[in-house]
Amino acid sequence: MSVFQRCVFQRLLQQVSSGARGRNVTSGLVSVSTQCALWRGRATAGAGYRNKSSAPCVKERTFIAVKPDGVQRRLVGQIIHRFERRGFKLIGLKLLQVSKDLLSEHYCQLTKKPFYPDLVNYMTSGPVVAMVWEGPDIVKISRMMVGHTNPAEAHAGTIRADFSFHVSRNVVHASDSTEGAQREIQLWFDGQDLLNWDCIDQSVTSEL
Ligand code: UDP
Ligand code: MG
Repeated sequence: MSVFQRCVFQRLLQQVSSGARGRNVTSGLVSVSTQCALWRGRATAGAGYRNKSSAPCVKERTFIAVKPDGVQRRLVGQIIHRFERRGFKLIGLKLLQVSKDLLSEHYCQLTKKPFYPDLVNYMTSGPVVAMVWEGPDIVKISRMMVGHTNPAEAHAGTIRADFSFHVSRNVVHASDSTEGAQREIQLWFDGQDLLNWDCIDQSVTSEL
């Protein structure tokens, strides 16, 4: 438990005990009970807010990129905001002009596809914002947040559905598997450019 967490917990205990002495702490009680439930959940495995499978949260990293159309259309802030508000942690970030070599490694499984030459032109047409994000099940969740490859088939509320309509200009990339994420992170980032840091709301947004 960090110093910050200890302080918050002690403050909550003070509120509870002052409530027991008859003071009006109605406004505080909602957050006290919520926080206490979270702390109990932290202390005991299999608490109520786990998912059905009861599987422990697995800390993962994934590679997300705002493609040149997203950068040109000034969507970088809104796309970053999607991942921040979901509760994920930013680990690495850079703006770069992508080379054809990097792109051919990144899309090595697609080089024989008929759309590949156009894809290379598109992806090298301007800067890309490359990012690494961290959180439980982030590979699966971020693919859902990004939506179907073809924005015309993407569900409303996904990034691709909300910001694009054509498969050749779909604004954002997200790794499609944990193995793919590992490969792409290593390809786009030096290990020293990724930052391990403690997010102060970590124990509130997950069990990690
Ligand atoms: N793409 C395209 N035409 C297609 C299919 C894909 O231009 O018919 C582009 C599109 O930008 C897509 C990228 O190629 O995001 C990579 O394709 P993939 O199948 O890996 O889709 P993704 O993982 O990005 O959803
Ligand atoms: Mg893909």
